[in-house]
Amino acid sequence: MIEKKSDFIIVGSGLIGLFIAYFLSKLDFTVVLIEKNKLSQSNYALKDVRTTAISEGSKQILSKFGIWTEINKQAEKIKSIKVFDRKYVNKIDFSNPRKNSVLGYIVQNKYIKKTLIKKIKKNKKIDFIHNAKIKDISISDSCVELYLSGRKIKASLLIACDGKKSFIREYFKMQLFQKKYKQKAIVVNLFHCVDHYNTAYEIFLNTGPLACLPMKKIDKKYFSSSIVWSHKADFIKTLDKINEKFLISILNEKLNPILGKIKSIISKNTFPLSAQINSNFSSKRIVYVGDSAHSIHPIAGQGWNLGMRDVDSLINIILKANSLGLDYGSEFVTDNYNKQRYFDAYSLYQVTDKLNYIFGKDDFLSSKIRQLGFSLIDKNKKINNKIVNYAMGIRNVL
Ligand SMILES: Cc1cc2nc3c(=O)[nH]c(=O)nc-3n(C[C@H](O)[C@H](O)[C@H](O)COP(=O)(O)OP(=O)(O)OC[C@H]3O[C@@H](n4cnc5c(N)ncnc54)[C@H](O)[C@@H]3O)c2cc1C
Repeated sequence: MIEKKSDFIIVGSGLIGLFIAYFLSKLDFTVVLIEKNKLSQSNYALKDVRTTAISEGSKQILSKFGIWTEINKQAEKIKSIKVFDRKYVNKIDFSNPRKNSVLGYIVQNKYIKKTLIKKIKKNKKIDFIHNAKIKDISISDSCVELYLSGRKIKASLLIACDGKKSFIREYFKMQLFQKKYKQKAIVVNLFHCVDHYNTAYEIFLNTGPLACLPMKKIDKKYFSSSIVWSHKADFIKTLDKINEKFLISILNEKLNPILGKIKSIISKNTFPLSAQINSNFSSKRIVYVGDSAHSIHPIAGQGWNLGMRDVDSLINIILKANSLGLDYGSEFVTDNYNKQRYFDAYSLYQVTDKLNYIFGKDDFLSSKIRQLGFSLIDKNKKINNKIVNYAMGIRNVL
């Protein structure tokens, strides 16, 4: 059996696991990164058709570790956000109160993953084991031991980044609070005729939110955008099955006023929707980061940004432990991480769940409350700016 020692074991190389592995290596720590999927030509990373709305707060974390410039090459700026209730009737306009500043950036997930995997494969501090099946894990007072076939890996801390169906969470029987929505989301990336002018749109329909996000121009003639449409699961399944022409005509009907004629579809995929949060984000020598700790409705495009705040907080605690000469797997790290991260995640879990509920209601009272709320937020700059700062991950600004 081959034995390997490392500072950290990271399980899962999604958008969170890849970043945390890269950041830790930049700080001179050693990492074994384990992924269950095979990294090949048609690899799992490139199959992700989603885009991510990167907030200002996450951009600052990426800048701190010197990777923003590269991500920014493929990023489209969001200069304004227009939110509509039902059919373009009640509306709120959001823009950044700071001069010449933007609200965020849209980047394709596959581009972020490709960039990081390339860097990680060349990195001597990271041992990236893909196509891996975890056989056993044992936790003792002194270390974590993880067994793959023919290999044993020893480390101080196990960082679970294995997504919302976390194997590590199930293996260690960590309790989970979960809310399954009867909704699914379809993501459709498409070419269209009218410029998006760097505006993101969110249209709250009674069946679920429809978001339209500006993508970087990849065609000389046409503009591109990414649609995230949440709706009843059966409807999304049907949308996924119908032919391209029919899908375009349905999307044209909804989006023509903002995108002009839709020309063709670049890629699409569907996602089941649920909200969940672990009862705790850590246990002995284990921390849960990103979707393995919490997964929220994509209504506000905040799941990954929330995960990046976990990453930032965990790295700061590890650095503090290092400076105090403490074990990276000690309670100082695991308990402080849980304390620092639980409230933020729980609040967003509740806010996104309630938003989805309120916008799904169509009775007279709910419609009136929404109408008043929209008018207040649109006209009151102070409230409007507070929401903008919250969404950008900038806290305590106003
Ligand atoms: C439709 C949609 C749109 C979204 N848009 C946005 C947005 O605009 N902005 C935003 O901030 N967030 C957004 N999100 C949320 C965001 O995509 C997720 O929060 C984020 O991708 C979570 O990343 P992760 O690395 O934690 O998990 P995942 O991406 O799920 O990665 C988990 C990884 O672990 C691996 N794995 C699983 N089990 C094992 C195992 N046993 N052993 C080894 N490896 C394993 C998986 O193969 C995978 O590679 C959106 C979500 C959806 C569904």
